[in-house]
Amino acid sequence: MKLVFASNNKNKIKEIQSILNGSIELLSLEEIGCFEEIPETAETIEGNAILKANYVTEKYGYNCFADDTGLEVAALNGEPGVYSARYAGEQKNADDNMNKLLKALKGEENRNAQFKTVIALNLNGEQHLFTGLAKGKITLQKSGNYGFGYDPIFQPENYSETFAELSAEIKNKISHRAKATEQLIDFLNSIK
Ligand code: IMP
Repeated sequence: MKLVFASNNKNKIKEIQSILNGSIELLSLEEIGCFEEIPETAETIEGNAILKANYVTEKYGYNCFADDTGLEVAALNGEPGVYSARYAGEQKNADDNMNKLLKALKGEENRNAQFKTVIALNLNGEQHLFTGLAKGKITLQKSGNYGFGYDPIFQPENYSETFAELSAEIKNKISHRAKATEQLIDFLNSIK
């Protein structure tokens, strides 16, 4: 079976392909000739994952899965959430986003937050959603150089380091994306 991953991240695609059972062939957007930017205009993380998966299935006729991720901060009623990439503006700059978030939480005692990844899978006319959460808190200042996005200010539960201080190997075991991907893979490997 051919299955499109609505992404052009070759590393992500390779990694998932290597864990899938041999009967599933993953295709990137490039490989199906989809070079346009897929709209991400929904108001929820789930909504954006669904929009992307549906775009590929409806326009190109493939089974497909797509992911979307956001950082939900409790004291900010779940913001920046679906707007995480462009929280501080359309320049989508990680430092600007972190500075804005640290400012918004200045003096705030409740620093609880979670990363949420939703994967929407369209398979043979049915849609399945898989959700991965990484719970933790927002630190008082940036720390660490690994990773990307909000990693320098996110300290996962049960760790004294930020995501940006943890090796990729550890982060990839405990992250929101890893948890959602595991569920997707278990599901795909369970079907014949
Ligand atoms: P995307 O849906 O994977 O593109 O993620 C949207 C935005 O959430 C990114 O631009 C980052 O700002 C943030 N984000 C997603 N995953 C992570 C992560 O693992 N660490 C830090 N920030 C992340």
